[in-house]
Amino acid sequence: MLQPVAVGTKSLTDYTHICGRGLIDEIRELAEPLKGRRVVHVSATAFGGGVSEILYTLVPLMRDVGLECEWQVIYGREEFFNATKLMHNALQGAPQDLDEEQWATWMSYNEMNARELSAGWDVCLVHDPQPAAMHQLVPEKAAGWVWRCHIDLSTPNPETIERLLPFIENYPQSLFHMQEYVPKGMGGNVNIVPPAIDPLAPKNMALSPEDASYVCGQFGIDIDRPLMCQVSRFDPWKDPLGVIDAYRTVKEKLPDLQLALVGSMASDDPEGWDFFNATIAHADGDPDVHILNNFNNVGSIEVNAFQSHADVLVQKSTREGFGLTVSEAIWKARPFIGGNVGGIPLQVEDGVTGFLVESAEQCAQRTLEILKDPALGKALGRRGKEHVRTHFLTPRYLRDYLRIFTELAQS
Ligand code: UDP
Repeated sequence: MLQPVAVGTKSLTDYTHICGRGLIDEIRELAEPLKGRRVVHVSATAFGGGVSEILYTLVPLMRDVGLECEWQVIYGREEFFNATKLMHNALQGAPQDLDEEQWATWMSYNEMNARELSAGWDVCLVHDPQPAAMHQLVPEKAAGWVWRCHIDLSTPNPETIERLLPFIENYPQSLFHMQEYVPKGMGGNVNIVPPAIDPLAPKNMALSPEDASYVCGQFGIDIDRPLMCQVSRFDPWKDPLGVIDAYRTVKEKLPDLQLALVGSMASDDPEGWDFFNATIAHADGDPDVHILNNFNNVGSIEVNAFQSHADVLVQKSTREGFGLTVSEAIWKARPFIGGNVGGIPLQVEDGVTGFLVESAEQCAQRTLEILKDPALGKALGRRGKEHVRTHFLTPRYLRDYLRIFTELAQS
């Protein structure tokens, strides 16, 4: 048996006041004929990163509308996760492909997990490349198969994608965040569906300005001085070093400025710790740069507080599959500046709902503009929030999945 993940309960009704009755009614109509269908989500991990973030909300809501929905994680040891980390990087464009032994490791863990998957599902929804071979290995275990790709496949390492393609191309239904991410040769029915955030989760629920400031104050932020903030893993593609550079440029003009870099760490990710240390080194002892992680007890509420309190929110990535942190930030109605890459432009219209930038200098310039003109920041934040409300909240995502399940049931 694969390891089931325990999720709490959620009620779709609670979302009515945030998303509007029209969408909620549409979801209930779509769900009616699907009641009792057995759906299993299969993913690599229950903790950390965007996928698990989404499933903790989506799975309870799928249950609430009448599906018999489960979430199970695959079994893997270090050798497997080393191989899949390499695969992840290669698929996002890194030059190093897996060697033969690593491909064999990936395959043998897929075989083991495919054997362990129970049978009799109406839909098996496989997330990302780690368990992607399952469909080909045990197609008889589910009536319908879906592959959900959460990563940026726009410029993959050619050897890696060629090797992976035979395992993903035959999924009857697949989902990608953007058209650019669909690999050449992908068969089945391809759906372009971005993910979404949960407006009622502790990370995104409304927090009063006083409570947000209180929490930030606890972490040593001077709540009376301006704060710039980025929330993301310590990963070169998230470019925290570029954020520090931008902060320094602005600080020359606004010496009061503070910066918070908030990022969760996995205890078993040595690369993450190396880069975390490199980030600390880059900050060079500046007491106004606050580098915090989950080992300082920065959890969902704290992320929420930093995003709600900051005067400028940044996601200066140089590569970004979607960037849940972007919608999370904009949902707080704070002015936002993001790198003009991957899923970020999908969430931000330059100059309307935030700013898109190509460099640390541009990021600095936009930060300065926002800090000098609070009315501009307020307008960007408000419009941004409405954009997220319409496009990037979980009920919309749930509706899109229900449409796909309906198609699967009819095929
Ligand atoms: N996250 C968090 N704490 C942190 C850093 C990140 O809870 O210190 C969350 C973040 O809020 C988001 C997810 O981890 O929900 C990251 O998803 P995203 O799509 O932004 O990037 P990924 O890490 O998957 O590349």
